Amino acid sequence: ASNEAAIVVIGTGLAGYGLVRELRKHDKDSPVIMITADDGRAYSKPMLSTGFTKNTDADALAQKDAGGMGEDLNASVWTLTKVTAIDTAAQIITIGDKETQVHYKKLVLALGADVIRPPVKGNAQDYVYSVNDLLDYDDFRTAVAKNNVKKVCIIGGGLIGCEFTNDLINGGIATETVDPLAYCLPTLLPEAAGKAVQAGLEAKGAKFHFGQLVTEVNKAADGLVVSLNNGDTINCDLVLSAVGVRPQIKLAQDAGITVNRGIATNRLLETSAPNVYAMGDCAEVAGHVLVYVAPLMAQARALAKTLSGQDTEVSYPAMPVTIKTPACPVTVSPAPRDAAGNWEVEQDGLNVVARFVGKDGELLGFALTGEGTKQKMALQKLLPAIMA
Ligand code: FAD
Repeated sequence: ASNEAAIVVIGTGLAGYGLVRELRKHDKDSPVIMITADDGRAYSKPMLSTGFTKNTDADALAQKDAGGMGEDLNASVWTLTKVTAIDTAAQIITIGDKETQVHYKKLVLALGADVIRPPVKGNAQDYVYSVNDLLDYDDFRTAVAKNNVKKVCIIGGGLIGCEFTNDLINGGIATETVDPLAYCLPTLLPEAAGKAVQAGLEAKGAKFHFGQLVTEVNKAADGLVVSLNNGDTINCDLVLSAVGVRPQIKLAQDAGITVNRGIATNRLLETSAPNVYAMGDCAEVAGHVLVYVAPLMAQARALAKTLSGQDTEVSYPAMPVTIKTPACPVTVSPAPRDAAGNWEVEQDGLNVVARFVGKDGELLGFALTGEGTKQKMALQKLLPAIMA
């Protein structure tokens, strides 16, 4: 064993790399080991849903390989390496089938989120893709090219489903999108705004099936046939599942670390185990699970200071999310999960300004579409911080 145990970071997504980049601003030399189950290439995950619009393949999205990142960050980056257990008492992690063990001084879990797989039956499940990292993206693009895909059926009309709907259409591929709820982005937007997004996408040629579940995907004489629970069918060449993600909690849970919807932390990003921290999509920070880039950047800045000896709690300002549906642009700042209040909606065609207002008339969130997105700066100033 080496004399000085390292800071070990599991995960090389925007959270893991973002953290070590911030850490090196305060501490140039402490040994850092980064471990990832994937190939460790640095890339911007939000670009996965604009790749057909911009015609960028996986190699073009990769900004740097693991070796280059290790050099930049003065870190040792271990790729294609899965961490299988954490012994929080001995401060040791196990890799693969127990052959390698690594002692940590501090451990950061930046494990991301897993895609949720809808329970779909049928004989063509191999043709149901999901895109949640660069390798998935490469597989999906390869399948689109290989199968000469003209139409994709998308399961899910939320953020990722609507972004891919717009992106595939921009790339000249037809879409039919299925969602059990009644309109686009149903968990983020009030009806008027969701319907505006739907209309914007339909004007570009998208087709939607709302109020339906996909039950089966089967091979057909030519391509695939997707069955819905009302008996309708959709002919297509490939299926893309985009029903949402779930924080990766299993590794922590198996180690006896407290988990809830995500790996539970306080505002110092400390988990229930000493010297173990969590951040990014896998973390639930003081009750907040926010699977977006802005929160993980705030976490990276705070945790970098904490790890270099200056305890720093993370703060969250209001952080509106821009949804990449250029057919009808959307900016949304969701109200806190259990906030009481109601939507006040102004609408002019595809342009919606919806304010989520509490019982004392205070602004708690907003949803803007089309020209309405121009109100973002003005409304953002009126919002309370998510975590001051
Ligand atoms: P990930 O990037 O998933 O990284 C997880 C890392 O953990 C990986 O390196 C993985 O290999 C590693 N890992 C996991 N388990 C293990 C293990 N046991 N052993 C070793 N390594 C392990 N957010 C926005 O704010 N704006 C957007 O416009 C936006 N668009 C998006 C579009 C798409 C298509 C998607 C999928 C997401 C989008 N998001 C967007 C969300 C945003 O991309 C994520 O919040 C962010 O990338 C999460 O980063 P992360 O580092 O936490 O997780």
